[in-house]
Amino acid sequence: MDFVVQDEYAELQRNITDYIERELRPLEAELDPEKDDVPIELRDKVRRRSAEFGFYAADFPEDLGGSGLPQLGMVLLREAAARTGCRLAGFTVYGPEGPTGVLLAGTDEQKKKYLTPLITAEKSMCFALTEPDAGSDAQNIKTTAVKDGDSWVLNGTKHFITNGKHADFALVFAVTDKELKGSGGITAFIVESSTPGFEVGRGQIGMLEGEGQFELIFRNCRVSEDQILGGPENLGMGFYAAMQFLAMGRLSIAAMCNGIADYCVKLGIDYAKERQAFGRPIGKNQYVQGHIVDSLVELKASKLITYECADKYDHGDAVIQESSMAKLYSTEMVNRVVDRMIQVHGGMGWMRELPLERIYRLVRIFTLVEGTSEIQKYIIAKSVGL
Ligand SMILES: Cc1cc2nc3c(=O)[nH]c(=O)nc-3n(C[C@H](O)[C@H](O)[C@H](O)COP(=O)(O)OP(=O)(O)OC[C@H]3O[C@@H](n4cnc5c(N)ncnc54)[C@H](O)[C@@H]3O)c2cc1C
Repeated sequence: MDFVVQDEYAELQRNITDYIERELRPLEAELDPEKDDVPIELRDKVRRRSAEFGFYAADFPEDLGGSGLPQLGMVLLREAAARTGCRLAGFTVYGPEGPTGVLLAGTDEQKKKYLTPLITAEKSMCFALTEPDAGSDAQNIKTTAVKDGDSWVLNGTKHFITNGKHADFALVFAVTDKELKGSGGITAFIVESSTPGFEVGRGQIGMLEGEGQFELIFRNCRVSEDQILGGPENLGMGFYAAMQFLAMGRLSIAAMCNGIADYCVKLGIDYAKERQAFGRPIGKNQYVQGHIVDSLVELKASKLITYECADKYDHGDAVIQESSMAKLYSTEMVNRVVDRMIQVHGGMGWMRELPLERIYRLVRIFTLVEGTSEIQKYIIAKSVGL
């Protein structure tokens, strides 16, 4: 697969790396190194600038403002951005606040009105599925949408919603048929945040400082039929639409984890060469080499699983099993790698002077979101008939 990288996408990787070094490094230098949070204004600025360069939502269709980049290219783009280790790199390519493939199931008007400004990063959204009593078991959501004349009235509470406070609109999943649930009873609604009855609840603070996630409360929140994703004929199809684009989300996380692991292994190798103990570089000790070698091998395996999955996706495969494997392996791998690289750095690894301790906390999220590791294992087991 390295062959594919060199021939088709190496230039793209160089371009995003150059862009980050040239434009974002100076901005990163202005951030408080002891604070995790990146101000929303700066995040927005980076997103917009990255969109101008065509990086931000490169895999979305050209007629909507993207570049139609295949998933293999997108995976390599994300990986290259993350490999820079720049704290602003995560905003160069869209995350949960940016466009979601799920919106491709929208009507032409919905795509024009909602998807295009996300692709250009002029607007942001949030994906509101999870509830206090329904995470992995997402079919069990309790938020309801009840028809009243030509409109639908939403009631319920979502939580852990990334960008919930800043989003211009939310893609909200609600039960429209209690009997059918995920088999045709869950509908996705596009709800603008200015709609009466749309309330942002408490901010939820995680391992990284700052309010990253939010509760969203819907109290008699009335939306028109046209706000059903895909239009009224798509009633009950919300869950299917979300499932259809899961592979894209899982691939994005895998690509990011591969890039982060790459960056951390490089830090470890450099330190193992330079740090002296017992009169020689610590990297001359086999136990230290083991941390690095195990990480290099696992990283290579993770990249290959991810590239193969992306390539198959581009060739029309649904990649149910492959995307779960890529997400499962890469997210567990990056946690092991960062932990080992902290070990290689000794006490310095634990200090905030180095980026590793923040990355250690950052990567802990990846085995939890977009389906936990256990859920990925469940999907893989199911894919072989268990
Ligand atoms: C930082 C962050 C950002 C998030 N952003 C969003 C967002 O923007 N939008 C959104 O909708 N959601 C978001 N989420 C929610 C996230 O998708 C859920 O947290 C995740 O799906 C797990 O659900 P849960 O937390 O309810 O855990 P639970 O489902 O309660 O799981 C608890 C444990 O039980 C295990 N488990 C559950 N069922 C099974 C099973 N069948 N077999 C084996 N093990 C099982 C899980 O793997 C886990 O270990 C976010 C979460 C976090 C922490």
